[in-house]
Amino acid sequence: MPETVIVIGLGGAGSFAAAKLAEQGLAVIGLEADDLIHTRGAYSGESRLFRAAYHEGADYVPLLLESRAAWLELEQAGGRRLFHETGVLSIGSAAAPQMEQVQRSLAHAGLAHEVLDTEELRRRYPQHSDLTDEIGVLDLLGGVLRPEAAISEIQRRARLAGADLRGNQRVAAIDEDAHGVRVRLASGEELRADRVVVTSGITSGGLLPDLAPHMQILPIALTWFCPENPADFAPDVFPAFIRDQGDVHIFGAPTLDGSLVKAGYDARFGAIADRSELPRELAPEDRHRIARDVHRLVGGLPPHIARESLHCDIFTADKRPILGRVSERIVVGTAFSGHGFKLIPAYGSALAAFVTGAPQAHDLSAFSPARFA
Ligand SMILES: Cc1cc2nc3c(=O)[nH]c(=O)nc-3n(C[C@H](O)[C@H](O)[C@H](O)COP(=O)(O)OP(=O)(O)OC[C@H]3O[C@@H](n4cnc5c(N)ncnc54)[C@H](O)[C@@H]3O)c2cc1C
Repeated sequence: MPETVIVIGLGGAGSFAAAKLAEQGLAVIGLEADDLIHTRGAYSGESRLFRAAYHEGADYVPLLLESRAAWLELEQAGGRRLFHETGVLSIGSAAAPQMEQVQRSLAHAGLAHEVLDTEELRRRYPQHSDLTDEIGVLDLLGGVLRPEAAISEIQRRARLAGADLRGNQRVAAIDEDAHGVRVRLASGEELRADRVVVTSGITSGGLLPDLAPHMQILPIALTWFCPENPADFAPDVFPAFIRDQGDVHIFGAPTLDGSLVKAGYDARFGAIADRSELPRELAPEDRHRIARDVHRLVGGLPPHIARESLHCDIFTADKRPILGRVSERIVVGTAFSGHGFKLIPAYGSALAAFVTGAPQAHDLSAFSPARFA
């Protein structure tokens, strides 16, 4: 009899881990509190940036390269668009520490990139306005992921390999004993498994209370604008971007629907206890500030927000994920801290290896739950 593994939470990390484990012959049950694809995940909202220019640390580079190859493989095998290879343009003052860091990390890892001085930046990307002493660093491995399609494709792979993925099954508690793990659903039903993977995003602290004090849930707003000339913002002429000017930090993606362009920045919300505290919409002053700054920095986007949505992710203080075993039979993959989607393939594979005891492909000690002990 193969070992039974229950994966709790089928966002990116859980779906990928479920697929990997099922492909290795384990009996996998995936339990998702919501529909199998929904609008309330940390993945929701049309697009996620993939950057190889990673100022978060050089140790992410091997994980990024593995993930990028996996996204392209998934896209090709599934025959649907998951990754737009637009590149990612970082724009900031030549003297700003993050611009030096981005260049250093790309050069250090030997990753393909171009450095554009202010004149070249103006000439090639006239969409970016109000340039002062800013330079651009174009990360040629970067691009834009389609998260809903990606998760749907990963779940298709998981089901093909035999995983039993169940929507609308909220897990209320897990208890480990000498023989396995008991998983209690909110409906009152109980399931047993040899091992459990907790990938339930913002609720993972509720299922693993020892980790709860080390994580906080932060809202992130997304905003879209409707340009008069969408052709100026098509993926072949307008790379995804991150721009820092003074204390304004904006990020965005080209138009993926030929109509709206995503551009915005974190609206600096405070931590919330759970989803019920997530604001339903931006406060008028935040809306005004984002629209004003985006219009000033990307002149072809009008000073009005055409679409907005509010989401949240769960963060650690060091903004590194929590990935590893918390006990003999329980593995956790959570707290991707606002930058985890691009790395889902590497994180999902690592979770599968933690379950089976296979050697890890990378040194993940900096992500270990043991760092909080
Ligand atoms: C607005 C926004 C923008 C972002 N931009 C980027 C970006 O550009 N690039 C990037 O790489 N990353 C980005 N991130 C971060 C990235 O999207 C997240 O880190 C990642 O998607 C988190 O994945 P997850 O699997 O942990 O959580 P989720 O995707 O939220 O998945 C968790 C799943 O568990 C389910 N669940 C919860 N509780 C239970 C339960 N009790 N029982 C069963 N199921 C349960 C949930 O319904 C959910 O489906 C962004 C995040 C946000 C919010």
